[in-house]
Amino acid sequence: MSAPAGLAGRPASGARPPILEHPRGLRSRPAAWIGCHGNPDRCLAIGGWRSPICARCVGLLAGYPLAVAALFVFGPPSLERALGGALLLVPAAVDGGAQALSAYRSTSARRLVTGVLAGLGQLELLGGITAALLRAVHG
Ligand SMILES: [Zn+2]
Repeated sequence: MSAPAGLAGRPASGARPPILEHPRGLRSRPAAWIGCHGNPDRCLAIGGWRSPICARCVGLLAGYPLAVAALFVFGPPSLERALGGALLLVPAAVDGGAQALSAYRSTSARRLVTGVLAGLGQLELLGGITAALLRAVHG
């Protein structure tokens, strides 16, 4: 008896493994709420516990408070920091993009780290753009 399609793991040929996409109703609630695929293969596993969202999303959520801390350390957001925030998105884009387009397979640790950088980058980018727009409108 063979495993159902999508559950057989990495193909022996070395081709890109299938990405399991669970229907929204089968995802964990946190995963469905934030729009995460919740693929158990990509969730953090520590001992017998498995995170309900993927490692990248855990990293994103961990990066957001770092962006708030950056406000206290570096002051109000600026357009220069927005550019830095955009650069922080690049590792996650490269890591995720390479997985989508090739046989490259990332690791949970790599997804977590690139997710943290991307979470910090997202808020730096949005904060910097918002600050620049507000300065343009209000002077
Ligand atoms: Zn996710």
